[in-house]
Amino acid sequence: MTQAIRSILIVGGGTAGWLAATYLQRTLCGDPAAPVSIRLVESPEVPTIGVGEATVPTLAATLHALGIPEPLLFARTEATLKNGVRFIGWRQGGDAASDRFDHPFDVPMMHEGYSSLVHWLNLTQRGLLRAPMGDCCSVQTALMEGLRSPKLMDSAGYLAPVPYGYHIDAGLLADLLRETAVARGVIHTPGTVSAVHTGPEGISGLILADGRPLQADLYVDCTGFAGLLIDRALGVPWLSYADHLLCDRAVACPVAHEDEAPALRPYTTATAEAAGWRWEIDLQSRRGTGYVYASAHCSDDEAVATLLRSHGSRTRLADPRLLRMRIGHRARVWEKNCLSLGLASGFIEPLESTGIYLIEHALMQFVDYLPGAGNNSRRQATYNRLIGDLYDELRDFIVMHYVLSQRRDTPFWREATDAARISPALADLLALWQEKVPQATDINRRMSLFSANNYFYILAGMHQLPLAGAAQGAHIAPDRSDAALRQVAAVRRAALMQSPTMADYARKQRGAA
Ligand code: FAD
Repeated sequence: MTQAIRSILIVGGGTAGWLAATYLQRTLCGDPAAPVSIRLVESPEVPTIGVGEATVPTLAATLHALGIPEPLLFARTEATLKNGVRFIGWRQGGDAASDRFDHPFDVPMMHEGYSSLVHWLNLTQRGLLRAPMGDCCSVQTALMEGLRSPKLMDSAGYLAPVPYGYHIDAGLLADLLRETAVARGVIHTPGTVSAVHTGPEGISGLILADGRPLQADLYVDCTGFAGLLIDRALGVPWLSYADHLLCDRAVACPVAHEDEAPALRPYTTATAEAAGWRWEIDLQSRRGTGYVYASAHCSDDEAVATLLRSHGSRTRLADPRLLRMRIGHRARVWEKNCLSLGLASGFIEPLESTGIYLIEHALMQFVDYLPGAGNNSRRQATYNRLIGDLYDELRDFIVMHYVLSQRRDTPFWREATDAARISPALADLLALWQEKVPQATDINRRMSLFSANNYFYILAGMHQLPLAGAAQGAHIAPDRSDAALRQVAAVRRAALMQSPTMADYARKQRGAA
């Protein structure tokens, strides 16, 4: 691909396709002297994956950059806000009372030049404190417990005192993005691609089922797990993570809230199960639920039964839907004149809600590395390496959730915790973090939004603490560390007083649209 891009053809109208359409329109179509046309083809016959409800804080920034007013999200996509993820049963298979930790989005507060996690470790290692790190160092875990919104009632626009993600209906988000993109000039072509032609430049053209030919300078493959262009036409290999992550299936099923004015959870719940884990995600008018499991250890029938049991007396709003998952990524997500995004480019099980984040990140980087005139092979190779590194980093972060567990009670957990699942890079980090507190500089790749603090929340939550980690803070007198944590506690109390409940906040925002 050596020419400046004048036309883009996106194939696929799921979250990836419509996010690409709005983002590329916003970032590439501003110059009247160099017009770029964008067309999106989507098949009326092939359904979208229809799941993807939890997100991370990057989405708020992306939607802000796209110029989509936040109240529209509340009015149109069933949105609620998310402070983080609550993990239940991951240490030993216990219940919410005995085996639970939170992974919030906020960075631990600082006190007298040290992170509160250093103060927490200082007191914990001296045997002076037994409270969990999340409760002592984070403000957002208080908001989670109190079912409070991460935003204040009068927070303007996308501004908020703490980082937040959304819980959304991904299909409704795609609808909103479609309307936005089409209103801004993206051409929407319903149709099924029946043939893909290739040539030296990569894709040379597409044929729709009704015979219409379509051509462009750049093709964006958003056809989901099918990978119509990147895989079937260009044959870019798939690098599987099956050796690291065992879960390859999911069953999803929405249920009704328990009453008409439910107290909405402002966090995603991830509960460990015999052969994987279950998610629970509160939207405004329903709860999304699902079970991610390993088919080698659990039949589809068993998985459905496990999920249905978890619903208790709640009314099911649809039949349970079985999904196959392919975990890994393309060896090259950008090949010749074809960029792949979303499930066509790769997927990691949704334990930390990284699906939509990966699409946002890949788009943002792509616009940076996009060729003007001239040979782009260096930029393309660098981009592919960066995205590959990001997948590896996220894989390791998810693998860590399993291998730190003390569970050995089922064949799945014995296999998932086996050291063979751990990449050399993760093995090095875990060995290092047995000796010291995680720091940003420990992580070589640092592509992902998960930093040393995020790793530490998981390590601490799993009761895997460094043996001498407080070295940096070991000189701090216990009463100073105690004062630091009392300061965090005061901010937590103030946040609880000021923040509205998630239900009240969603109701108000919905009305403001
Ligand atoms: P799809 O939604 O599958 O869309 C594919 C599109 O391609 C469709 O429009 C289809 O019509 C079109 N298409 C296919 N073939 C053709 C053809 N021949 N011609 C024309 N069009 C065609 N992500 C998160 O961020 N958070 C989560 O909590 C989360 N949970 C998940 C849970 C599960 C069980 C799974 C499997 C995924 C989850 N994800 C999550 C990932 C998320 O669902 C996807 O990243 C996201 O929906 C993007 O999907 P997509 O657009 O790539 O593919």
